[in-house]
Amino acid sequence: MGNDKMKYCNVCKKHVDPVKADWNWKWFILLTLTVVGWIPYVIYHVYFKKKNRCSICQSDQFSKFSPEEREQNRKRRELRKAKRTEQMSAGKEDFIEGSMGTYDDETEELLKKADIAFEEGNGNKAIKLIDKALDVYEEDEDVTVAFPLYKKKAYYLYQSGRNDEAWELYNTMYSKCDEKRILLAQLFDEKRKMLEFEMKYLGAIREAVMAKIYYDWTYLDKGREDEVDYEWTEDETFEELAKKAEKEHRWEEAREVLVEAYDDLENLDFPVVNKKVHTLLRK
Ligand SMILES: [Zn+2]
Repeated sequence: MGNDKMKYCNVCKKHVDPVKADWNWKWFILLTLTVVGWIPYVIYHVYFKKKNRCSICQSDQFSKFSPEEREQNRKRRELRKAKRTEQMSAGKEDFIEGSMGTYDDETEELLKKADIAFEEGNGNKAIKLIDKALDVYEEDEDVTVAFPLYKKKAYYLYQSGRNDEAWELYNTMYSKCDEKRILLAQLFDEKRKMLEFEMKYLGAIREAVMAKIYYDWTYLDKGREDEVDYEWTEDETFEELAKKAEKEHRWEEAREVLVEAYDDLENLDFPVVNKKVHTLLRK
């Protein structure tokens, strides 16, 4: 579809360019007879009336996709799913990286274009291109697939100064991936980056701690316990953030709390630990 504003009319069964509802003489005459007068109606019609009617039948029975497009999208998702299953059974997929790089060619092309647009300083265009990719994948029953797209979109939103929308998207992502530990780990990590960017370092530490816990839980799930850093010393992010927050002296105490909690990592009481750490750092 060349024109982004085109919509599918469910009455006419075709794509149309929406128009304003017709000029309404009844309203015009009615208002002329009142103190309000006809001027507000003219202003409303010319400047404020939304283009939300079918240009052929004047109905507002629109949907984003035609049934054929919907079917096409479904087929694309299914193909991708088959491709991913194949890769997984071949043991090629690293769980940390998620499913990037397993979309169909059309989507990969969109993502490439989005990257280029973003590099050229056109963030809003990049976001629109990602949205197009999301059109196909956000309906996928497995959110793991759409996740990298959401992540990219949030990053672009942020870098384009649309911070509020980025945070809103993080909330959406959070509710979408509630059970999936690896996705939550990545999500917290993204939020950590953004808070660091905003120089909100205490908040950034909180997100970083959550990200590590979720990553480590994922390691446990995958039987890769040897990769868990039980001492919280391998990653310098925490110390660096504490330094930036001018809480360097508190981090050691916070680390001890976390190390102790890691004695029983599988049953770690996430909100309690997080609160303890945060209270310590706030002192
Ligand atoms: Zn129509």
